[in-house]
Amino acid sequence: MRITVLGSGTSTGIPVIGCTCATCMSTAPENNRLRSSIYVEHPSVKFMVDCSLDFRQQALRYRMPRIDAVILTHDHADHIGGFDDLRGYNFIQQGPIDIYGTAAVFKTLRERYAYCFRPALQIGGGLPQLNLIEIEPGKAFQLGDLEILPVPIKHGLLDIVGYRVGKTFAYMTDCSFVPETSVPMVDDIENLIVGALRPTPHETHFSLPEALEFSRSIRAGKTWFTHITDRLEYFATNASLPPDAQLLHDGQVIEVETC
Ligand SMILES: [Zn+2]
Ligand SMILES: [Zn+2]
Repeated sequence: MRITVLGSGTSTGIPVIGCTCATCMSTAPENNRLRSSIYVEHPSVKFMVDCSLDFRQQALRYRMPRIDAVILTHDHADHIGGFDDLRGYNFIQQGPIDIYGTAAVFKTLRERYAYCFRPALQIGGGLPQLNLIEIEPGKAFQLGDLEILPVPIKHGLLDIVGYRVGKTFAYMTDCSFVPETSVPMVDDIENLIVGALRPTPHETHFSLPEALEFSRSIRAGKTWFTHITDRLEYFATNASLPPDAQLLHDGQVIEVETC
């Protein structure tokens, strides 16, 4: 299974509008971060986790050949803001795209993108065609040959989900706390992508030290950090981290065994 990092940035993206810090002024592509999302390719299915505000740019940059499904972590704008541009893949694939999310996420989608879910007024509107498939946190579902487990996590006060994909990979962005009952779902995971916002604590996200501590507490194998602010310059931060726990960069490709 092949994972392409479409974006590793926090909600603002990096550079931050108007910011002149060293990370934001850096010309290194590793310090240029679109909003967080990944693309997963398995012989049986190709899908994204989240559809970021930068989805159009990500699709043009990484040329994902096909999107069978999108699995959503939560309804914040940086994670669903590219929704309307999914129609580009409706045109290519001549069919709807399956969207997986919780009831809470779908409530927001139906409000924010109401025009996608009511009959079109006229021909030529070009609305996205989407099949909403509701999931339950903690209850596995099938995507192609892969078992996907929505792992309940906390994002500040919000209940959101991370995802375990197959048995060997988990993606947990925008996480500030992992409930005791969710720990066995990701214990000993071989490959982990987890959110790490900045060096210092934050109300709704793990800091880098907290994310590293979480990874160690579940005895994760290879760990990568995502949803990163400009407070974490890529090269200096990675030099300070252990080799098996590093910041991601946009465009990074990770190959994982699925069983
Ligand atoms: Zn976010
Ligand atoms: Zn969020």
